[in-house]
Amino acid sequence: MKVAVFSSKPYDQTYLTRGNQSGHELTFLEPHLNAQTAALAQGHEVACCFVNDTIDAEVLTRLHEYGVRLLALRCAGFNNVDLEAAAHLGIVVARVPEYSPFAVAEHAVALILGLNRQTHRAFNRVRENDYSLHGLLGFDLHGKTIGVVGTGKIGVAFVRIMRGFGCQVLCSDPYTNPAATEAGAQYVSTEELWRRSDIISLHCPLLPSTRHLINAESLQQMRDGVMLINTSRGALIDTRAVIDALKTGKVGYLGLDVYEEEADLFFEDNSDDILQDDVFARLLTFKHVLITGHQAFFTEEALSAIAEVTIGNIDAFAAGQLEKMHRVIS
Ligand code: NAD
Repeated sequence: MKVAVFSSKPYDQTYLTRGNQSGHELTFLEPHLNAQTAALAQGHEVACCFVNDTIDAEVLTRLHEYGVRLLALRCAGFNNVDLEAAAHLGIVVARVPEYSPFAVAEHAVALILGLNRQTHRAFNRVRENDYSLHGLLGFDLHGKTIGVVGTGKIGVAFVRIMRGFGCQVLCSDPYTNPAATEAGAQYVSTEELWRRSDIISLHCPLLPSTRHLINAESLQQMRDGVMLINTSRGALIDTRAVIDALKTGKVGYLGLDVYEEEADLFFEDNSDDILQDDVFARLLTFKHVLITGHQAFFTEEALSAIAEVTIGNIDAFAAGQLEKMHRVIS
């Protein structure tokens, strides 16, 4: 099939080409998919998209006019897709429900350790011949209480790692997962999780019900100096409310791999440009804020799995075997 691969980077090209055993015609396109760029899909039956592509009703209508019948997401989340519009137009939507839960869980742990022991600041100091320790005081993770919001595939992988550190793990999720309790975690109400956790890590999807889950009200219920980690989706956090909480010390540490306005920033080298996002700029001024640019998924194992499942979805669609696809149903 002819596949227009939007938001493609050199690593997408490498892994998708390697996984393309079936010989699909892959057109690698650097731009994000949006109303202005949808025309690039002309003549393709498949649009292959990523997290920051805009796939609303207008874009889907254009894609449909250009002949696109399959939207092959090379990510797990589908919060950027208007599923009703896709269903109405008869465009099948497929995704990669699981690639490497370890990649994201381990990155959340990297943020925790980096923030706690300030390794990013220590790295710079040592290079300046400065071996002073002021400002680098950390705490033992052993014995601390970790709150895990969302115990799906990534949340459970994270629970297991934190149990290995000797932490007590509290979870909240509308559906309990036996794998979390088997790993030694305990389910509590969200309010109890806010109240008791030293570190809170978000592993739930972005839904209308989880948008700004971390807001002024929930922050108020948390322990003073709490560490917040978000490797899920930026809009789970009301960034302005967290900035206020960082200013008062209510939030002691913030580790982000995602940001609610990341579409205009992440995945690009903007180093020659003036940063226009004042909220993001304010975040960067805090010593105890560590931000990475949506790289939690970025491991060799995850990229191989993403390519394999994406090509598998396209193969199954081409063969008319919709039951073999990882479809997103609205
Ligand atoms: P999953 O579907 O296996 O698990 C999500 C869990 O969240 C489910 O158990 C669900 O019941 C729970 N949930 C839903 N609403 C909730 C709520 N209000 N409170 C608490 N829990 C709730 O998903 P997963 O594979 O574990 O991925 C989790 C999220 O990680 C994805 O939605 C995605 O946004 C994010 N992610 C980020 C990256 C990255 O590179 N940063 C990569 C992959 C996934």
